[in-house]
Amino acid sequence: MSRSPPPIDVADHEVLYSADAIARRVSELAASIASDYAEKSPAFLITMTGAFVFASDLLRAMHPNTPRGATIDAIKAKSYVGTTSSERVTLSDGAASAVDVRGRHVVVIEDIVDTGVTLRELRAAMDARGAASVTCVALLNKRARRREELASDGPEYVGFECEDRFVVGYGLDLDGRCREWPYVGVLNGH
Ligand code: 5GP
Ligand code: MG
Ligand code: MG
Repeated sequence: MSRSPPPIDVADHEVLYSADAIARRVSELAASIASDYAEKSPAFLITMTGAFVFASDLLRAMHPNTPRGATIDAIKAKSYVGTTSSERVTLSDGAASAVDVRGRHVVVIEDIVDTGVTLRELRAAMDARGAASVTCVALLNKRARRREELASDGPEYVGFECEDRFVVGYGLDLDGRCREWPYVGVLNGH
């Protein structure tokens, strides 16, 4: 009979990026993007589920300077099981038909770019759907883990360059837990 591993104690953690530090950086990112896309009617694309907290703060920080004609949609990108990357990515737009990005300037909103595989798949999917351009804003960039062939394919806008630890909170999960933390932390022992 196989025994399941002991549950991870998520209370045993340290804060890596505080709510205040994140809020300050989010305001800066919002201002840059609002300015760069002022005349481009961007199609913001939130990658669910991890980016929902970041996206919610980023987009509200943009208001009332949100570029005219901007739209907000979400896409589900799933690539992780537990704390190890499965290196497999599935994209789905849920029950609705695919988000129409033809001729649009897409800004993908990501929680974290790690190996870069998810971002590569998202860029390819948006290109295939006829996007005019695709860029990415990621709260966290874990450059040390980028796949070699994707070294030049990082996010255009980055909140923080992140060390090579498994981080949780502010939308980022450990199998569905910790997403509600208002800060980003690391679990001790992981
Ligand atoms: P990538 O395809 O770039 O390897 O990984 C992208 C996705 O993996 C992220 O959007 C995120 O959902 C998940 N991921 C990567 N690193 C971490 C991490 O340190 N913590 C958590 N919670 N998720 C991660
Ligand atoms: Mg993600
Ligand atoms: Mg996850």
